[in-house]
Amino acid sequence: MASFAVLFLTLGLIIFNLFQSSTYKSIDTDIKNQVVSIQKQPNMKKRVIPDPHGPTDHFQTNTDKPDPKAPFQASILVFNDKGKLLNKTSLGNRYSVLKNIKLNKRALNEKQTLIINNMNFRSMLIKVSEKNNNPMYAGHYVLIMQNIDTQIQAINNFEKILIITFFIFWIIALIISYFLARINMLPIIKSWKQQTEFVNDAAHELRTPLTIIQGKLEYMLTKPNKTILDEAEAISVSLDEVNRLNSLTNNLLVLARSDSATTKFNFELTTPEFFLKDPIEPFKDIINSQSKVFQISLNHHPTLYLDRDKIKQLLIILLDNATKYTPKNGTIKIYDQIEGSKYQFIISDTGVGIADSEKAKIFGRFYRVDKSRNSNSGGHGLGLAIATQIVNIHHGTISVRDNLPHGSEFVVEFPIKHM
Ligand code: ADP
Repeated sequence: MASFAVLFLTLGLIIFNLFQSSTYKSIDTDIKNQVVSIQKQPNMKKRVIPDPHGPTDHFQTNTDKPDPKAPFQASILVFNDKGKLLNKTSLGNRYSVLKNIKLNKRALNEKQTLIINNMNFRSMLIKVSEKNNNPMYAGHYVLIMQNIDTQIQAINNFEKILIITFFIFWIIALIISYFLARINMLPIIKSWKQQTEFVNDAAHELRTPLTIIQGKLEYMLTKPNKTILDEAEAISVSLDEVNRLNSLTNNLLVLARSDSATTKFNFELTTPEFFLKDPIEPFKDIINSQSKVFQISLNHHPTLYLDRDKIKQLLIILLDNATKYTPKNGTIKIYDQIEGSKYQFIISDTGVGIADSEKAKIFGRFYRVDKSRNSNSGGHGLGLAIATQIVNIHHGTISVRDNLPHGSEFVVEFPIKHM
């Protein structure tokens, strides 16, 4: 707002000054032309008309008429050395106004602005040489005056218009800056809200296991004579919660580090067999031990630019979810394909599936489709948020689609590096 005001004000002042000075310049040029034409009167034989009314006006000659080139509003006053006005008659009805002007020799050759009877004049006093061919001017003081009321009126009008437009535009600028500020603030407000929600959710997630552990410990304190064996259940529940807390704090740390861009990445050129084999291997046993089928069909070998450890983390999240949300006798499959200049690996399961309305939400932090079911399975809703961060850092994409007739497929896509 302030910058707009300063800009408009500066612009307005510059335009106003330019307008004012150019107006005065054109008036002064007119006066100067008059001065030149008076000082260089052509050497013509002037017919002197003797003035019957007395010696003072004996200068009335044919040249006493206004110069045809002179501006319409111009008046010429001729004074003698003593300040007596010599050309009263030639002034006509203007005399009644101009008679108030006194000869001011100190202003010789200076441009002045005079106000007489509320009328504005720009004037210049010159001393015409004795040798001037026009007897009316020769050896006298000549005051060239130009009425500038119209110009002053124009300057005043211009000033008013400028002030009004300044205020109109300033109000427009005010409205625009308000909306611009709002638009600029939106992402900041959004991320601020997200941050607050994140902290709230994290606190909530931390509170649940802590409350359980506290409850179990307090309960055990009331039974001081019991053995560890007697309280094995309470101890194992507490340990489970400690494990949950551990994984939660690790995940929070991963997200926070990634948000503040303090995570170090170790990007390298690699091919899928180098980053897929290691994380997949332990899942073979885990999945089989749960009476589920694990199928692997990886056939492509493009070159990719990735951080292998981060991709390992991503694969573990996706395979862990597929295992968690697939019931006994279900099938989990990992396969790959090439789509144009992109390499895709897909983790599909025949599990519970994800409703269309949930598909976009599951990638958000702390989002769980069925909160009661997931707290049993140990999730905090942070896995896919971390997976999304990893994929984004690799300029890839992650999406979910249905695996018909039931289950879901997570598709991860990375750009292929062409060597
Ligand atoms: P969580 O630790 O709870 O699994 P995630 O961020 O990994 O958190 O997943 C978010 C939610 O997405 C899960 O709670 C679950 O409801 C849903 N989800 C993730 N993967 C699958 C899957 N393979 N099948 C069905 N639902 C899934």
